[in-house]
Amino acid sequence: MTSIPVTASVVGLGPAGRIVAHRASAHGWDVTAYDPAGGTLPSTIGLWCDQLPDWLPSDFLAATFRPSVILADGRERQLTRAYGVINKDCLQKLGGFRIERRALTDLESTSADITIVTTGRTHAAVGRGGQVRQLAIGHIFSLDDVPSDHRRAVLMDFTPADPESSDSEPASFSYRIFLDDRTFLIEETILATPTPLVGGYLSETGATVGSGGEVDDSALLALLRNRQSARLKSLGLSEDLATDEEVVSFPLLANLPSHRRDLTRNRPSMGTLFGFAGGWMHPATGYSVGSVIEDADRFLADMEKRGSRSRGTSLSMRVQRWLRERGLAALLGFDARQTSEFFRAFFSLPEKDVFAYLIGTSPLMTLCAMAKVAGPLLKMSPRTCGKLIAGFIRGPGKWRNR
Ligand SMILES: Cc1cc2nc3c(=O)[nH]c(=O)nc-3n(C[C@H](O)[C@H](O)[C@H](O)COP(=O)(O)OP(=O)(O)OC[C@H]3O[C@@H](n4cnc5c(N)ncnc54)[C@H](O)[C@@H]3O)c2cc1C
Repeated sequence: MTSIPVTASVVGLGPAGRIVAHRASAHGWDVTAYDPAGGTLPSTIGLWCDQLPDWLPSDFLAATFRPSVILADGRERQLTRAYGVINKDCLQKLGGFRIERRALTDLESTSADITIVTTGRTHAAVGRGGQVRQLAIGHIFSLDDVPSDHRRAVLMDFTPADPESSDSEPASFSYRIFLDDRTFLIEETILATPTPLVGGYLSETGATVGSGGEVDDSALLALLRNRQSARLKSLGLSEDLATDEEVVSFPLLANLPSHRRDLTRNRPSMGTLFGFAGGWMHPATGYSVGSVIEDADRFLADMEKRGSRSRGTSLSMRVQRWLRERGLAALLGFDARQTSEFFRAFFSLPEKDVFAYLIGTSPLMTLCAMAKVAGPLLKMSPRTCGKLIAGFIRGPGKWRNR
């Protein structure tokens, strides 16, 4: 048991660092956060409202809505759960701790009782198959410019943006959400795809990461740009009307956190991992912020109890991550047609199974949802179902161990 007052260093001030530093301060810890950028946040952050604890300020969400999903054959399913978009100013203001604007490296240590490492993508995995990333090209419109028929939230629209596109190119979908009561985002997204690597991969801090390889996402982003143009046209819009553009490219798979062994070369090894670095990102959806917010207090209670012996994650979280990574591997084995068949099967499941896989915390329910998707998929295409099972068995090793 670590006695209060606890002194803590939080290394990295992305969403995970900010949230954990804020909550630790609220628990009475004396916290210093380190980040050369002084803190970073992605341009838009969405999450499922079920994940939000009571401690959040009342203006934490800039928009809430219940999105639908449109399958490749045009059928639409309304989801009943509420989805929210974070008010970034509010997230940015979560404070109560000191910030030191500098990087902390392996060679340094702080005198704090506890060190929490949230250095994010410096822990991204690479493998002989490249790096698995989520990519998107989005445009932000004034709501008044969006044709009224399309002024509704769609989490995933799988109808093809460009009917000429070949099955060998990765599938994409259109993500269309309210950012607040005045603006609307339309984003063509590849959920997960291997991205080639060339040369030495450099982190934001300029240091070589892991076993190297600079990500070359240019061809995939160009493909998305073309599809986004076609999509906007089909929605009665064009890029010229957009007030802003969002380019998304981030890794989905983290190196497996190890309590004893330093898995990458440039991260401080003395702390407990949290956020993307610790495996809190859902590897098949790219969402981590909701689960970080949901889990921050449990994580800190464990740190308080076990101090630097804490692994941060429970056994059930590690099993959950293992299962989800198998789900990612299955997804990566599909071509574009098979991806749309898979999502037809996935969104034919009862909503409790859909959300057990997306945000659930029970490995058993996740496993049930994963098993259940095989039924409708087998009816649709035994070959695609075979690929699902093969991907599950194979796992993500090809994109992790280089
Ligand atoms: C455009 C875009 C949109 C996204 N939308 C969503 C979304 O809707 N929902 C969602 O859940 N996720 C979304 N994501 C993914 C999301 O950004 C990541 O899940 C999230 O940022 C991970 O948070 P993190 O704090 O763990 O790591 P990061 O955000 O990677 O933060 C790591 C921080 O550590 C700092 N750092 C690195 N090395 C050091 C060091 N040695 N010392 C000190 N500091 C260091 C970096 O400067 C950085 O600030 C989106 C990503 C992008 C790019």
